[in-house]
Amino acid sequence: MRVRDSIHDDRLPNSYYAATCNDMSGFRRLEGNIKVDICVVGGGFTGVAAALHLAERGYEVALVEQNRIGWGASGRNGGQVIGGYGQELSNFAKIEKTFGSGNAETVWKMGVECVDIISDWVKKYQIDCGLKWGYVDLAMKESELEELQHSKAALEAQGYPHEQKVLNATEVKNYVGSDRYIGGVTNMGWGHCHVLNLVLGEARAAEKLGVQIFEDARVSALHEREGKVIVDMDHCRVTANKVVLAGNAYLGKLVPKLASRVLPAGSYILATEPLCEKLSGQIMPAGFAACDQRWALDYFRLTPDHRLLFGGLATYSGRHPRDIVAAVKPNMIKVFPELKNTGIDYAWGGYMGIGLNRIPQVGKVADNIYYAQAYSGHGVAPTHMSAKLIAEAIEGDRSRFDIMANVKHPPFPGGQLFRQPMLAAGMAYYRMKDAMGR
Ligand SMILES: Cc1cc2nc3c(=O)[nH]c(=O)nc-3n(C[C@H](O)[C@H](O)[C@H](O)COP(=O)(O)OP(=O)(O)OC[C@H]3O[C@@H](n4cnc5c(N)ncnc54)[C@H](O)[C@@H]3O)c2cc1C
Repeated sequence: MRVRDSIHDDRLPNSYYAATCNDMSGFRRLEGNIKVDICVVGGGFTGVAAALHLAERGYEVALVEQNRIGWGASGRNGGQVIGGYGQELSNFAKIEKTFGSGNAETVWKMGVECVDIISDWVKKYQIDCGLKWGYVDLAMKESELEELQHSKAALEAQGYPHEQKVLNATEVKNYVGSDRYIGGVTNMGWGHCHVLNLVLGEARAAEKLGVQIFEDARVSALHEREGKVIVDMDHCRVTANKVVLAGNAYLGKLVPKLASRVLPAGSYILATEPLCEKLSGQIMPAGFAACDQRWALDYFRLTPDHRLLFGGLATYSGRHPRDIVAAVKPNMIKVFPELKNTGIDYAWGGYMGIGLNRIPQVGKVADNIYYAQAYSGHGVAPTHMSAKLIAEAIEGDRSRFDIMANVKHPPFPGGQLFRQPMLAAGMAYYRMKDAMGR
C-alpha cells in the first residue's frame, strides 16, 4: 500500500480516522470577500482551538483551511493524548532551567491544563470522539525503567493529580502482551481518542458559537494595510484586525521566518483489520495507549472496533516511504509476533512540525499577527494550550503568552537546502544508539 497523501493532495488520507469519521459533510467555500475581527489560518487543533477559545470570549472569527478541517497532522495522528507543555511534564528541573524559577510552576501547570482543555470541551460540547483514559510508558531496559520511576516521583512531588503505577516485567503484560518490555509506568491522566472526530467536533462547536469556517481556502499572501491584515486566497480575501497563523508543518513558505524554525518530519501509522476479542485482549488487555522510550519510538493503541493502530518510523528526508506497510509492519511484529499474518486495512502518514529545541513556538510575527507551531510529535494536547495563550493575549492578558513568546527559537542550521539532510544524519545517529541499546 502506498501513502496517497502528499503536501499537495487535498483529500483526507486513506486513514482509519477518515474511514470511521462521524461527519464528513465538510464546511463551505468562501465566495467573495469578508471582513472580520480575527482570521485564523489553518484548520488543525491549533487553529480550531484558537477559533473556539476566541469565540468563547465573544470575538468575531473566520477560520480558513486550505484543504479540509483536520486534513493536517491533527486528523491523522496516533491519537495519544499526552500532557506536558514546553518540556517534559516530569522534568521540573529542566522546565526551571528553560523558563526560570519564577515561571517554571506556571509552565508545569500548563502541561496538565492542556489535557484538561480537551477533557472539558469533550464534555461541554458533547464531542463523540471515544476519549478514553489510560496510558502506559514502556521500558525496554533497566535505565529506562529507572528514568520512568524518577519521572513518576517528580510528578508526584509537584502534586500531579492523576494516578500512576510502576509495573515490573510481569505486571506490564497486563497492559501490553509482549515480551519486549521489562516494565513501565501507567498514567490515568493521559489517554487516547479518535482525533479527526475531536477536531471536527471542536470545529462544529466553534461554528455554533458563530465562527465562520471555510475549507478549500489556501492563503497565498498576507499584507498589512492601515492597521488591518489582508489575507489573500486564490479566489477571495479576508480583511481582519488580527490574524492567527496555525499552519505548522504545512504552512510552507508563507512566512519565511516561521518556515526556518519548523522542520516537517514524516511519521507513519498502520491500522490492522479488526482483531477477534481474544487476540485484542491478549495484546492490549487494559485498552491503554502505549509508547516506548526510544528516539525512533513505537506508539500504539486499540480502537473501539478492536483494530491495533500502530505508529512509528520518523523520516526527515522530506520523502514518504514508497510502501508504508513494508516500512512499519516489521516494527509491529517485533512487538506482537502473533500479528504476522494479520491484514492491514489502512496505512497513512503525515508531517509533524519539529523545532530545534523541542519547545512549542508561540509568538507574533508582527503587531497583529500571532502564530503557534512546532510541537515536535507531541501536539494533540499542547496545541490546545498554545491556542489558549493566543486567545488570552488577544483578550489583553499576555502574562502566560509572554513566557512562551520570550523563548528563543533558533532556525535550523543548513538553510532551506541542507537542514533536512542534516537532521536526517542526526536521526540516523540516534537510531543507531537505539539499535545498540544505549
Ligand atoms: C503520523 C503522526 C502521528 C502523531 N501522533 C501524535 C500522537 O499520538 N500524540 C500527539 O500528541 N501528537 C501526535 N502527532 C503530532 C500532532 O498531530 C501535531 O503536533 C498536531 O496535530 C499539530 O496540530 P496543528 O494544528 O498545529 O497542525 P496541523 O494539524 O498540521 O494543521 C495545520 C493546518 O493548516 C493548514 N494550512 C497550512 N498552510 C495553509 C495556508 N497557507 N492556507 C490555509 N490553510 C493552511 C493545513 O492544511 C493543515 O490542515 C503526530 C503527528 C503525525 C504526523
